[in-house]
Amino acid sequence: MKLLFDYGHGGNDPGANYKGRKEADDVLRLGRAVAKRLRQAGVIVDETRTTDTTLGLGARVKRDKASRYDYFVSFHRNAYSPEKAHGAEVFTYPTASAKAKGLAVQLQNALVRVGFTDRGVKTANYYVLRNTRSPAVLIEAGFIDNSNDNRLFDERFDVMVDGIAGCFADLGVVCGKS
Ligand SMILES: [Zn+2]
Repeated sequence: MKLLFDYGHGGNDPGANYKGRKEADDVLRLGRAVAKRLRQAGVIVDETRTTDTTLGLGARVKRDKASRYDYFVSFHRNAYSPEKAHGAEVFTYPTASAKAKGLAVQLQNALVRVGFTDRGVKTANYYVLRNTRSPAVLIEAGFIDNSNDNRLFDERFDVMVDGIAGCFADLGVVCGKS
C-alpha cells in the first residue's frame, strides 16, 4: 500500500479560517498524524507538503503523477457561514473509479463515528480530483467555522486519526464498514 496525502492550502493560502484557526494548520496536523499512524503499520505514505508552505494545485497533481499510488487523499476542512453549517463529507470526482468511491464511503463512515453529522459522500469537479491519476478522494473533516465541529476535531482527534488510518490498514480498529 502506497499513498499520497495532500494537505490543502498552506503558506500564503491559509484556506478557511475562523477565530484565528486556519484550515491549512488543521489539515496538516490531521493528515500528518494519520500518516504517522500508517507508517507504524508499514504503509508507505508520501505527502505533498509537510510544513506550512505555499503549494499550487498543479504541483500537487504533478506529485501524484510522478509515482504510482494506491490512493490520493486530500485533507480539507469546510466553511460556510459562522456557526451555520456542520458535519463531514467526502468527495470523489463524478466519474471516479469504484475503488475511489468505495474508499470515500469508508472514510465518511469513519468521520461519522467521530461524531460529525453525516453530510454524505458527494461528487465534485475539484481540480485535484479531476487531474490526479490515482484513485482520489477529498475529505472535509467538519466545518472550521462551527464551534462544535472544532470541539469534535480536537477532543476526538485520536479517534478520527485511527478511524481514517483504519481505512488503509488493519490497525485493529473498526474501519469504515458500519
Ligand atoms: Zn480547503
